[in-house]
Amino acid sequence: MRAILLRFGELYLKGNNRNIFESLLISNIKEKLKGESYRFEKTFGRYVVSKYDLDKENIIIEKLKTVFGLYSISVAQELDADVETIKDYIKNIKLKTENFKVVVKRADKSFPITSMDFAKILGGIILDNNKSATVELYSPKTTIYVDIRLNKKAYVFDDIIKCQGGLPLGSAGRGLLLLSGGIDSPVAGYLIAKRGLKLEALHFHSYPYTSDEAKDKVIALAKKLCDYVDEIKLHVVSFTKVQEAIHVHCRSEYMITIMRRIMMRIAEKICERNELGAIVTGESLGQVASQTMQSMTVTGGVVKECPIFRPCIAMDKEEIMEIANNIGTYQTSILPYEDCCTVFLPKNPVIKPTIEKCEKEESFLDIERLVDEALQSEEVIVLNRD
Ligand code: ATP
Ligand code: MG
Repeated sequence: MRAILLRFGELYLKGNNRNIFESLLISNIKEKLKGESYRFEKTFGRYVVSKYDLDKENIIIEKLKTVFGLYSISVAQELDADVETIKDYIKNIKLKTENFKVVVKRADKSFPITSMDFAKILGGIILDNNKSATVELYSPKTTIYVDIRLNKKAYVFDDIIKCQGGLPLGSAGRGLLLLSGGIDSPVAGYLIAKRGLKLEALHFHSYPYTSDEAKDKVIALAKKLCDYVDEIKLHVVSFTKVQEAIHVHCRSEYMITIMRRIMMRIAEKICERNELGAIVTGESLGQVASQTMQSMTVTGGVVKECPIFRPCIAMDKEEIMEIANNIGTYQTSILPYEDCCTVFLPKNPVIKPTIEKCEKEESFLDIERLVDEALQSEEVIVLNRD
Protein backbone atom coordinates (compact mmCIF):
# COMPACT_ATOMS: atom_id res chain seq x y z
CA MET A 1 0.00 0.00 0.00
CA ARG A 2 1.22 3.50 -0.82
CA ALA A 3 1.67 5.69 2.25
CA ILE A 4 3.28 8.94 3.35
CA LEU A 5 5.75 8.67 6.20
CA LEU A 6 5.99 11.77 8.41
CA ARG A 7 9.00 12.63 10.57
CA PHE A 8 9.11 15.13 13.39
CA GLY A 9 12.28 16.44 15.01
CA GLU A 10 12.68 18.53 18.08
CA LEU A 11 9.65 17.12 19.84
CA TYR A 12 12.05 14.56 21.22
CA LEU A 13 13.71 17.23 23.34
CA LYS A 14 10.62 18.17 25.21
CA GLY A 15 10.56 15.66 28.07
CA ASN A 16 7.27 15.70 29.92
CA ASN A 17 5.82 18.24 27.53
CA ARG A 18 6.24 15.86 24.68
CA ASN A 19 2.69 14.58 24.82
CA ILE A 20 1.28 18.09 24.67
CA PHE A 21 3.52 18.96 21.71
CA GLU A 22 2.66 15.75 19.96
CA SER A 23 -1.09 16.06 20.31
CA LEU A 24 -0.84 19.66 19.10
CA LEU A 25 1.21 18.57 16.10
CA ILE A 26 -1.29 15.83 15.27
CA SER A 27 -4.26 18.16 15.56
CA ASN A 28 -2.45 20.73 13.35
CA ILE A 29 -1.80 18.03 10.73
CA LYS A 30 -5.47 17.03 10.82
CA GLU A 31 -6.57 20.65 10.55
CA LYS A 32 -4.35 21.07 7.50
CA LEU A 33 -5.76 17.93 5.86
CA LYS A 34 -9.36 18.85 6.66
CA GLY A 35 -11.59 17.90 3.74
CA GLU A 36 -9.29 15.10 2.53
CA SER A 37 -10.09 11.49 3.23
CA TYR A 38 -7.17 9.46 4.59
CA ARG A 39 -6.07 7.20 7.39
CA PHE A 40 -3.74 8.56 10.09
CA GLU A 41 -1.58 6.23 12.12
CA LYS A 42 0.84 7.01 14.89
CA THR A 43 3.75 4.67 15.43
CA PHE A 44 6.82 5.29 17.56
CA GLY A 45 8.87 8.11 15.99
CA ARG A 46 6.73 8.42 12.85
CA TYR A 47 3.23 9.14 11.63
CA VAL A 48 1.75 7.48 8.58
CA VAL A 49 -0.87 8.92 6.24
CA SER A 50 -2.41 6.34 3.93
CA LYS A 51 -5.60 5.28 2.14
CA TYR A 52 -5.94 8.64 0.44
CA ASP A 53 -7.07 9.32 -3.08
CA LEU A 54 -3.90 8.94 -5.18
CA ASP A 55 -4.96 11.84 -7.40
CA LYS A 56 -4.76 14.02 -4.29
CA GLU A 57 -1.29 12.85 -3.28
CA ASN A 58 0.50 15.99 -4.44
CA ILE A 59 -2.04 18.24 -2.74
CA ILE A 60 -1.63 16.32 0.50
CA ILE A 61 2.16 16.55 0.25
CA GLU A 62 2.02 20.30 -0.36
CA LYS A 63 -0.24 20.74 2.66
CA LEU A 64 2.00 18.64 4.89
CA LYS A 65 4.99 20.71 3.79
CA THR A 66 3.44 23.75 5.50
CA VAL A 67 2.98 22.11 8.93
CA PHE A 68 5.42 23.50 11.50
CA GLY A 69 7.00 20.71 13.55
CA LEU A 70 7.26 18.26 10.65
CA TYR A 71 10.84 17.84 9.47
CA SER A 72 10.49 15.63 6.43
CA ILE A 73 8.16 13.26 4.64
CA SER A 74 8.57 10.37 2.22
CA VAL A 75 6.15 8.76 -0.14
CA ALA A 76 6.67 5.06 0.55
CA GLN A 77 5.45 1.58 -0.12
CA GLU A 78 4.12 0.13 3.11
CA LEU A 79 4.83 -3.59 3.48
CA ASP A 80 4.51 -6.14 6.24
CA ALA A 81 7.87 -6.13 8.00
CA ASP A 82 8.65 -9.65 6.89
CA VAL A 83 11.94 -10.64 5.23
CA GLU A 84 10.41 -12.43 2.24
CA THR A 85 7.77 -9.77 1.61
CA ILE A 86 10.41 -7.05 1.53
CA LYS A 87 12.68 -9.09 -0.73
CA ASP A 88 9.80 -9.73 -3.14
CA TYR A 89 9.07 -6.05 -3.38
CA ILE A 90 12.73 -5.13 -3.85
CA LYS A 91 12.99 -7.65 -6.74
CA ASN A 92 10.69 -5.49 -8.80
CA ILE A 93 12.64 -2.28 -8.42
CA LYS A 94 13.85 -0.97 -11.78
CA LEU A 95 16.55 1.64 -11.22
CA LYS A 96 16.60 4.79 -13.31
CA THR A 97 20.23 5.58 -12.46
CA GLU A 98 23.50 3.75 -12.99
CA ASN A 99 24.35 3.42 -9.30
CA PHE A 100 22.59 3.13 -5.96
CA LYS A 101 22.83 2.13 -2.35
CA VAL A 102 20.42 0.58 0.11
CA VAL A 103 19.95 1.98 3.62
CA VAL A 104 18.09 -0.15 6.13
CA LYS A 105 16.95 1.21 9.47
CA ARG A 106 15.40 -0.97 12.16
CA ALA A 107 13.39 0.80 14.81
CA ASP A 108 12.10 -2.70 15.50
CA LYS A 109 15.11 -4.62 16.83
CA SER A 110 13.16 -7.87 16.83
CA PHE A 111 13.47 -7.93 13.05
CA PRO A 112 15.66 -11.02 12.52
CA ILE A 113 18.45 -9.58 10.34
CA THR A 114 20.69 -6.63 11.27
CA SER A 115 20.37 -3.45 9.22
CA MET A 116 23.82 -3.83 7.62
CA ASP A 117 23.29 -7.46 6.66
CA PHE A 118 19.82 -6.84 5.30
CA ALA A 119 21.06 -3.86 3.23
CA LYS A 120 23.67 -6.15 1.65
CA ILE A 121 21.08 -8.83 0.87
CA LEU A 122 18.67 -6.30 -0.68
CA GLY A 123 21.52 -4.62 -2.60
CA GLY A 124 22.38 -8.04 -4.09
CA ILE A 125 18.78 -8.51 -5.21
CA ILE A 126 18.73 -5.10 -6.90
CA LEU A 127 22.05 -5.87 -8.67
CA ASP A 128 20.61 -9.17 -9.96
CA ASN A 129 17.66 -7.35 -11.48
CA ASN A 130 19.47 -4.28 -12.80
CA LYS A 131 22.44 -5.77 -14.61
CA SER A 132 24.21 -2.53 -15.52
CA ALA A 133 23.91 -0.92 -12.06
CA THR A 134 26.69 -0.68 -9.50
CA VAL A 135 26.67 0.00 -5.77
CA GLU A 136 27.95 3.46 -4.76
CA LEU A 137 28.11 4.01 -1.04
CA TYR A 138 29.33 7.64 -0.90
CA SER A 139 27.43 9.58 -3.51
CA PRO A 140 24.77 7.29 -4.93
CA LYS A 141 22.39 8.63 -7.57
CA THR A 142 19.58 6.61 -6.00
CA THR A 143 19.17 5.60 -2.38
CA ILE A 144 16.64 2.95 -1.54
CA TYR A 145 15.57 3.32 2.08
CA VAL A 146 13.94 0.51 4.03
CA ASP A 147 12.58 1.76 7.34
CA ILE A 148 11.33 -1.02 9.62
CA ARG A 149 9.04 0.39 12.28
CA LEU A 150 7.57 -0.90 15.53
CA ASN A 151 4.12 -1.25 13.97
CA LYS A 152 5.55 -4.34 12.18
CA LYS A 153 5.51 -2.49 8.90
CA ALA A 154 8.40 -1.67 6.61
CA TYR A 155 8.46 1.48 4.48
CA VAL A 156 10.43 1.50 1.24
CA PHE A 157 11.13 4.84 -0.45
CA ASP A 158 13.78 6.65 -2.45
CA ASP A 159 13.18 10.29 -1.57
CA ILE A 160 13.11 12.44 1.56
CA ILE A 161 11.16 15.66 1.11
CA LYS A 162 12.28 18.41 3.46
CA CYS A 163 9.51 20.19 5.41
CA GLN A 164 9.48 23.34 7.54
CA GLY A 165 10.90 22.01 10.81
CA GLY A 166 10.23 24.20 13.83
CA LEU A 167 7.68 23.53 16.55
CA PRO A 168 3.93 22.90 16.35
CA LEU A 169 1.95 26.09 15.81
CA GLY A 170 0.44 27.22 19.10
CA SER A 171 3.01 25.46 21.28
CA ALA A 172 4.65 28.82 22.11
CA GLY A 173 1.37 30.66 22.72
CA ARG A 174 -0.07 33.56 20.73
CA GLY A 175 1.42 36.86 19.61
CA LEU A 176 0.73 40.00 17.59
CA LEU A 177 2.63 40.58 14.34
CA LEU A 178 3.07 44.22 13.31
CA LEU A 179 2.45 43.74 9.62
CA SER A 180 3.40 46.48 7.18
CA GLY A 181 3.27 46.06 3.43
CA GLY A 182 7.04 45.58 3.28
CA ILE A 183 9.27 42.57 2.77
CA ASP A 184 10.45 42.06 6.32
CA SER A 185 7.40 41.80 8.55
CA PRO A 186 5.72 38.86 6.71
CA VAL A 187 9.05 37.02 6.96
CA ALA A 188 9.25 37.84 10.66
CA GLY A 189 5.73 36.43 11.09
CA TYR A 190 6.61 33.24 9.26
CA LEU A 191 9.82 32.73 11.26
CA ILE A 192 8.22 33.22 14.66
CA ALA A 193 5.17 31.10 13.76
CA LYS A 194 7.64 28.39 12.83
CA ARG A 195 8.83 28.43 16.44
CA GLY A 196 5.28 27.72 17.55
CA LEU A 197 3.78 31.20 18.01
CA LYS A 198 0.24 31.48 16.73
CA LEU A 199 -0.36 34.91 15.20
CA GLU A 200 -2.79 37.72 15.00
CA ALA A 201 -1.66 40.74 12.98
CA LEU A 202 -1.89 44.50 13.32
CA HIS A 203 -1.67 46.93 10.43
CA PHE A 204 -1.66 50.72 10.62
CA HIS A 205 -2.93 52.65 7.63
CA SER A 206 -3.05 56.39 7.08
CA TYR A 207 -6.06 56.78 4.86
CA PRO A 208 -6.44 59.06 2.87
CA TYR A 209 -2.64 59.52 2.68
CA THR A 210 -2.36 55.79 2.01
CA SER A 211 -4.60 54.07 -0.52
CA ASP A 212 -7.03 51.17 -0.41
CA GLU A 213 -4.53 49.27 -2.54
CA ALA A 214 -1.96 49.60 0.24
CA LYS A 215 -4.42 48.00 2.65
CA ASP A 216 -5.39 45.28 0.16
CA LYS A 217 -1.73 44.45 -0.20
CA VAL A 218 -1.45 43.84 3.54
CA ILE A 219 -4.58 41.70 3.47
CA ALA A 220 -2.99 39.69 0.64
CA LEU A 221 0.20 39.25 2.68
CA ALA A 222 -1.72 38.10 5.76
CA LYS A 223 -3.68 35.72 3.56
CA LYS A 224 -0.44 34.29 2.18
CA LEU A 225 0.79 33.63 5.74
CA CYS A 226 -2.41 31.62 6.27
CA ASP A 227 -0.88 28.90 4.07
CA TYR A 228 1.23 28.19 7.14
CA VAL A 229 -0.84 29.41 10.06
CA ASP A 230 -4.36 28.55 8.79
CA GLU A 231 -6.05 31.64 10.16
CA ILE A 232 -5.05 35.23 10.92
CA LYS A 233 -7.16 37.80 12.66
CA LEU A 234 -5.96 41.07 11.13
CA HIS A 235 -6.54 44.21 13.17
CA VAL A 236 -6.50 47.30 10.96
CA VAL A 237 -6.09 50.60 12.78
CA SER A 238 -6.09 54.13 11.44
CA PHE A 239 -2.89 56.00 12.19
CA THR A 240 -3.83 59.19 10.36
CA LYS A 241 -4.68 61.33 13.37
CA VAL A 242 -1.60 60.22 15.26
CA GLN A 243 0.62 61.14 12.35
CA GLU A 244 -1.06 64.48 11.82
CA ALA A 245 -0.67 65.32 15.50
CA ILE A 246 3.00 64.36 15.53
CA HIS A 247 3.58 66.28 12.31
CA VAL A 248 2.08 69.42 13.82
CA HIS A 249 3.52 69.23 17.34
CA CYS A 250 6.82 67.37 17.30
CA ARG A 251 10.27 68.01 15.85
CA SER A 252 10.49 66.36 12.47
CA GLU A 253 13.62 64.31 13.21
CA TYR A 254 11.76 62.62 16.08
CA MET A 255 8.66 61.96 13.98
CA ILE A 256 9.40 58.29 13.18
CA THR A 257 10.60 57.54 16.68
CA ILE A 258 7.44 58.94 18.26
CA MET A 259 5.30 57.16 15.67
CA ARG A 260 6.95 53.88 16.58
CA ARG A 261 6.44 54.47 20.28
CA ILE A 262 2.74 55.13 19.70
CA MET A 263 2.44 52.09 17.44
CA MET A 264 3.91 50.00 20.25
CA ARG A 265 1.49 51.41 22.82
CA ILE A 266 -1.45 50.59 20.56
CA ALA A 267 -0.01 47.14 19.88
CA GLU A 268 0.32 46.43 23.58
CA LYS A 269 -3.31 47.44 24.16
CA ILE A 270 -4.44 45.08 21.39
CA CYS A 271 -2.34 42.33 22.96
CA GLU A 272 -4.03 42.92 26.31
CA ARG A 273 -7.53 42.85 24.83
CA ASN A 274 -6.91 39.70 22.82
CA GLU A 275 -4.73 37.82 25.31
CA LEU A 276 -1.67 37.90 23.10
CA GLY A 277 1.64 37.41 24.85
CA ALA A 278 4.22 38.97 22.50
CA ILE A 279 4.73 41.66 19.88
CA VAL A 280 6.57 40.67 16.69
CA THR A 281 8.24 43.09 14.25
CA GLY A 282 10.29 42.81 11.07
CA GLU A 283 13.11 45.03 12.30
CA SER A 284 16.70 44.26 11.35
CA LEU A 285 19.62 45.88 13.18
CA GLY A 286 20.95 48.95 11.41
CA GLN A 287 18.70 48.63 8.34
CA VAL A 288 17.31 52.16 8.74
CA ALA A 289 17.52 54.97 11.30
CA SER A 290 14.60 53.59 13.30
CA GLN A 291 16.33 50.24 13.64
CA THR A 292 19.44 51.20 15.57
CA MET A 293 20.06 49.88 19.06
CA GLN A 294 19.10 53.28 20.53
CA SER A 295 15.90 53.48 18.44
CA MET A 296 14.85 50.03 19.53
CA THR A 297 15.55 50.92 23.16
CA VAL A 298 13.20 53.89 23.07
CA THR A 299 10.48 52.21 21.01
CA GLY A 300 10.64 49.00 23.04
CA GLY A 301 10.75 51.07 26.22
CA VAL A 302 7.03 51.87 26.13
CA VAL A 303 6.08 48.17 26.13
CA LYS A 304 5.80 46.92 29.69
CA GLU A 305 3.84 43.70 29.71
CA CYS A 306 5.21 41.53 26.93
CA PRO A 307 8.40 40.76 25.03
CA ILE A 308 9.09 42.13 21.56
CA PHE A 309 10.34 39.47 19.18
CA ARG A 310 12.38 40.58 16.16
CA PRO A 311 13.15 37.40 14.20
CA CYS A 312 14.92 39.29 11.37
CA ILE A 313 17.19 41.25 13.72
CA ALA A 314 20.43 39.59 12.61
CA MET A 315 19.53 38.96 8.99
CA ASP A 316 20.77 40.72 5.86
CA LYS A 317 18.15 42.04 3.46
CA GLU A 318 19.26 39.39 0.95
CA GLU A 319 18.55 36.63 3.44
CA ILE A 320 15.15 38.10 4.30
CA MET A 321 14.32 38.37 0.60
CA GLU A 322 15.25 34.76 0.03
CA ILE A 323 12.79 33.61 2.71
CA ALA A 324 10.14 36.00 1.35
CA ASN A 325 10.56 34.30 -2.01
CA ASN A 326 10.33 30.83 -0.53
CA ILE A 327 7.15 31.58 1.40
CA GLY A 328 5.58 33.41 -1.53
CA THR A 329 5.23 36.90 -0.03
CA TYR A 330 7.98 38.66 -1.99
CA GLN A 331 6.03 39.45 -5.15
CA THR A 332 3.22 41.03 -3.13
CA SER A 333 5.61 42.93 -0.85
CA ILE A 334 7.32 44.69 -3.74
CA LEU A 335 4.07 46.11 -5.15
CA PRO A 336 4.64 49.86 -5.10
CA TYR A 337 2.00 51.10 -2.64
CA GLU A 338 3.00 53.55 0.04
CA ASP A 339 3.21 52.58 3.70
CA CYS A 340 2.05 54.85 6.51
CA CYS A 341 5.68 55.29 7.55
CA THR A 342 6.43 57.06 4.29
CA VAL A 343 3.82 59.76 4.97
CA PHE A 344 5.37 63.03 6.25
CA LEU A 345 8.75 61.34 6.16
CA PRO A 346 11.44 63.57 7.72
CA LYS A 347 14.67 64.21 5.82
CA ASN A 348 16.94 63.51 8.78
CA PRO A 349 15.41 61.03 11.22
CA VAL A 350 17.32 60.80 14.48
CA ILE A 351 19.64 57.80 14.63
CA LYS A 352 20.38 57.84 18.36
CA PRO A 353 17.19 59.03 20.06
CA THR A 354 17.13 59.34 23.84
CA ILE A 355 14.25 58.61 26.21
CA GLU A 356 14.42 62.14 27.62
CA LYS A 357 14.01 63.76 24.21
CA CYS A 358 11.22 61.36 23.26
CA GLU A 359 9.39 62.24 26.46
CA LYS A 360 9.86 65.92 25.79
CA GLU A 361 8.40 65.61 22.26
CA GLU A 362 5.55 63.49 23.60
CA SER A 363 4.70 66.12 26.20
CA PHE A 364 3.24 68.16 23.32
CA LEU A 365 0.76 65.34 22.54
CA ASP A 366 -2.26 63.88 24.29
CA ILE A 367 -0.96 60.36 23.86
CA GLU A 368 -3.72 58.60 25.79
CA ARG A 369 -6.41 60.22 23.67
CA LEU A 370 -4.55 59.49 20.43
CA VAL A 371 -4.17 55.84 21.40
CA ASP A 372 -7.84 55.56 22.38
CA GLU A 373 -9.01 57.19 19.18
CA ALA A 374 -6.84 54.95 17.08
CA LEU A 375 -8.22 51.91 18.90
CA GLN A 376 -11.75 53.08 18.19
CA SER A 377 -11.00 53.00 14.47
CA GLU A 378 -10.07 49.31 14.67
CA GLU A 379 -11.47 47.05 12.00
CA VAL A 380 -11.02 43.29 12.31
CA ILE A 381 -10.66 41.07 9.26
CA VAL A 382 -10.46 37.31 9.72
CA LEU A 383 -8.47 35.57 7.00
CA ASN A 384 -8.26 31.86 6.32
CA ARG A 385 -6.29 29.45 4.18
CA ASP A 386 -8.10 28.63 0.92
P1 ATP B 1 8.95 45.95 6.51
O1 ATP B 1 9.66 45.44 5.32
O2 ATP B 1 8.42 44.87 7.40
O3 ATP B 1 7.95 47.02 6.18
P2 ATP B 1 10.90 47.89 6.93
O4 ATP B 1 12.26 47.44 6.67
O5 ATP B 1 10.17 48.69 5.90
O6 ATP B 1 10.05 46.64 7.37
P3 ATP B 1 10.11 49.85 8.88
O7 ATP B 1 9.21 50.48 7.94
O8 ATP B 1 11.10 50.63 9.67
O9 ATP B 1 11.00 48.69 8.28
O10 ATP B 1 9.22 49.04 9.92
C1 ATP B 1 9.80 48.25 10.91
C2 ATP B 1 8.75 47.31 11.46
O11 ATP B 1 7.67 48.06 12.04
C3 ATP B 1 8.08 46.49 10.36
O12 ATP B 1 8.82 45.34 10.07
C4 ATP B 1 6.75 46.18 11.01
O13 ATP B 1 6.86 45.11 11.91
C5 ATP B 1 6.43 47.46 11.77
N1 ATP B 1 5.62 48.36 10.91
C6 ATP B 1 6.05 49.34 10.09
N2 ATP B 1 5.02 49.94 9.46
C7 ATP B 1 3.90 49.32 9.90
C8 ATP B 1 2.49 49.47 9.62
N3 ATP B 1 2.04 50.36 8.75
N4 ATP B 1 1.63 48.66 10.26
C9 ATP B 1 2.09 47.73 11.14
N5 ATP B 1 3.37 47.55 11.43
C10 ATP B 1 4.28 48.32 10.82
MG1 MG C 1 8.16 49.14 5.89
